[in-house]
Amino acid sequence: MKFIKENIQVVNEKIENAALKSNRNKDDITLLGVTKTVDTDAILEAINCGITNVGENKPQELARKYEVIGDKVKWHLIGTLQTNKVKYIIDKVSMIHSLDRESLCEEIQKRAEKIDRKIDCLVQVNISKEESKHGLEVEDAIEFIKNVSNKYKNINIKGLMTMAPFTANEDEIRKVFRGLKDLSLEIKNLNIPRVTMDELSMGMSNDYEIAIEEGATIVRVGTSIFGKRNYN
Ligand SMILES: *Cc1c(COP(=O)(O)O)cnc(C)c1O
Repeated sequence: MKFIKENIQVVNEKIENAALKSNRNKDDITLLGVTKTVDTDAILEAINCGITNVGENKPQELARKYEVIGDKVKWHLIGTLQTNKVKYIIDKVSMIHSLDRESLCEEIQKRAEKIDRKIDCLVQVNISKEESKHGLEVEDAIEFIKNVSNKYKNINIKGLMTMAPFTANEDEIRKVFRGLKDLSLEIKNLNIPRVTMDELSMGMSNDYEIAIEEGATIVRVGTSIFGKRNYN
């Protein structure tokens, strides 16, 4: 699996260059290895090559891999989360990137309270307004976050997450990332209790360099590290 090491080197170099270009410190950007459909041997190899955070989009898949790998790496849940699946991951994740509705907050609160944990979450926002994209509308995000802060004491909101539109148009992608950054600054200024806006999870294999230029602190990279996914 030599290609994993080489791929990670290439991605790290590109992260460094994008950081330089935008006057940022590369150490302020976390490379999240997206490991959906990737087997545990490959994940362990990535950990050996310096990956410290991985993201899964299916709760049961995360739980299954956690049984093998455990706390050698930090686990992130990056996909749409059904409330009835929260129980599989609540004691394993270091961050949930897809907080997008109150019913999910209720369930996370209930489960987190039971095990006496605070859960770091990002609020997913649908900046691009694509029908197919999950996440809150921009107009609803602030009310949602205020409400979470009021009602769900075991949820700490650390920032925002978004998905760029599926397009080759760089300007369009950049506009979406910039929109997320602007929204996070607006929220930061409100000084809402237990809400910080230190994390911006945005950018995937195709667009993480643009995301870094626009302020991403977490880039979610799968294909460029592990190769094309095999969904069999
Ligand atoms: C699959 C996935 C990624 C990674 O996509 P790549 O194009 O393979 O880098 C990032 N974020 C989310 C939410 C994903 O589901």
